[in-house]
Amino acid sequence: MRIIQFSLRSALFAATLFVFSGVCLAQNETNDSYTHGTGGINAANQLSKPYLVLISIDGFRWDYLDRYPTPNMHRIAAVGTKAERLLPVFPTLTFPNHYSIATGLYPDHHGLVANDFPDPERDTWYSLKKRDTVEDRRFYAGEPIWVTAETQGMVAASFFFVGTEAPVKGVYPTHWRSYNKKITGEDRVDQVLTWLAKPEQNRPHIYTLYFEDVDDYSHWFGPGSEENIEAISRVDGYIGRLLDGLEKLSFADQVNIILLSDHGQGAYLQDQQAYVLADHVNLDDTAIIEGGSYLFLHLDRDEPDRAAKIVATVNDSWNHGHAYLPEDTPSQWHVGSNQRFPDVILMPDAGYAVLSKEGKAGKINAGDHGWAPENPAMHGFFIACGPNITPGLSLGPVNNIDVYPLMLSILGLDAPDLMDGNATHLATAFNTTRSTQSCSKQ
Ligand code: AMP
Ligand code: ZN
Ligand code: ZN
Repeated sequence: MRIIQFSLRSALFAATLFVFSGVCLAQNETNDSYTHGTGGINAANQLSKPYLVLISIDGFRWDYLDRYPTPNMHRIAAVGTKAERLLPVFPTLTFPNHYSIATGLYPDHHGLVANDFPDPERDTWYSLKKRDTVEDRRFYAGEPIWVTAETQGMVAASFFFVGTEAPVKGVYPTHWRSYNKKITGEDRVDQVLTWLAKPEQNRPHIYTLYFEDVDDYSHWFGPGSEENIEAISRVDGYIGRLLDGLEKLSFADQVNIILLSDHGQGAYLQDQQAYVLADHVNLDDTAIIEGGSYLFLHLDRDEPDRAAKIVATVNDSWNHGHAYLPEDTPSQWHVGSNQRFPDVILMPDAGYAVLSKEGKAGKINAGDHGWAPENPAMHGFFIACGPNITPGLSLGPVNNIDVYPLMLSILGLDAPDLMDGNATHLATAFNTTRSTQSCSKQ
């Protein structure tokens, strides 16, 4: 057992990683690849379709909109549809959730079951930190919206989104960028505006944008910290820049925006005792993926009895969390039969921490996500506007897998064979009459 000490150390460590990863990824910033896609030219039947900009603000919790100054996001909410919250999938991490938003599938079906996971079929591991795996299509199942678009003759462009750097089903968006934290939010927005200014024939109809600042600063300084609120304001400014740019377009009233987040962010309870797994269980011959707010245990060999024994031992000794075999997880987590899921899942109660061993205390940040998806602090947000979005609509909680079918409706694209999301769930947000309501005009 270990008392958690919140220190500046983890913030400094994270800041160092931030700078380092930016340096590592500074190369290869421009890509225009046409593998089996549109070749950068819209098919004739796509030319009259509306436009859609899908924007993700990583780690933006559902209640930030009402708590902190976000005038530009409120411009969108004022003329469009706002959900009370966006419900993430399990696990509440960046890669699984972004790819669920992009594909309308649970991680069990799209394959990104965590930010780091093994692929037993190929005896290899995926990691968000390993560029060669992020760019390897073999890890990605399902059909992300930009692939759906490109294969149906609609040009797509992405300034970052999980999955856009791999040719999923052999298809890239026509325009995409290798993830690089050093590219400023302003530059990302300006590039999208540049793409929007292309001649009609080449002008992408679906765009993605991604901003990590809010997630970063809430990890380092905690949700509600001054630094986090500043990051929220900064990203709100990027949204304002986009809206102002859109306003200048002759076809501004044909551009829809969906603005959302992958998950929220919570704080650890102070002065608690983290549950330290190694104090109770022999961890030899295991691989551990952990974040303080979750712990995934992969056994090196197929040993079903061992997993069950570990689960029993943990549940006998842990008052503030629970261990599960994948098949015993709550049904709403949708952990199915995908072999990439861990052999044992340790899930602390909201605000509590788990560590594999004491030396891993640095995993505990000021803020985190990874706790169970039903925990309100893990919930994201959803707002949308534009000609195909119902103005003035307030919805209750929305599942993030239902965003994909809404995007299909907006863009008039055919659905792929496999989809967990349901078009009827967000049907009221879809304005079938296609108005001339611009996102940038009240
Ligand atoms: P996490 O908070 O651990 O779930 O992951 C969030 C981090 O994922 C962000 O801070 C980004 O740096 C990173 N990230 C987001 N998109 C990508 C990408 N396409 N490639 C690599 N890393 C990414
Ligand atoms: Zn995230
Ligand atoms: Zn995060």
